[in-house]
Amino acid sequence: MRYPDPVLKRRAEPVAAVDAGIRALIEDMYAIMRKEEGLGLAAPQVGRSLRIFVTEKHEDFPARAYINPCLIAADGPVAVREEGCLSLPGISVNVRRPSHVRIEATGIDGERFELEDSGLMGRCWLHEHDHLEGRLITDWMSPIDRLAARRALRDLEEAFEEGR
Ligand code: ZN
Repeated sequence: MRYPDPVLKRRAEPVAAVDAGIRALIEDMYAIMRKEEGLGLAAPQVGRSLRIFVTEKHEDFPARAYINPCLIAADGPVAVREEGCLSLPGISVNVRRPSHVRIEATGIDGERFELEDSGLMGRCWLHEHDHLEGRLITDWMSPIDRLAARRALRDLEEAFEEGR
């Protein structure tokens, strides 16, 4: 799903149980993330308003699914880094985020786990968690960013209207 599809702006619903349907959805999400060469992908990006995201293997982190994730901490010095999003092709935004993140979630095995990171994976968790809250990188744009991305955003809006 691409901007401005309304599913991307909706707050996603909790997952009641990690059943076969959820596991199949997660397999699809891994496949799409890999095809698009993203570091992460959230369920609303595949049109499902559920609190799930997946991340690709990165440094010491294996590829993993996060079901009903909960941010335990997002603190430390704020860092600025350019972020892109598979739902907003051609657009990148400098996003300010806390540099240290602790997250708790349910894995595909149904067990809760907890992780922390002060690098790119921590930032990825915040980006994907934003998707579950209905937030996109466009929500972090400065007026200058918005001006610079005006044409790309308009093209996406027109493509969405044509596809309806
Ligand atoms: Zn994204």
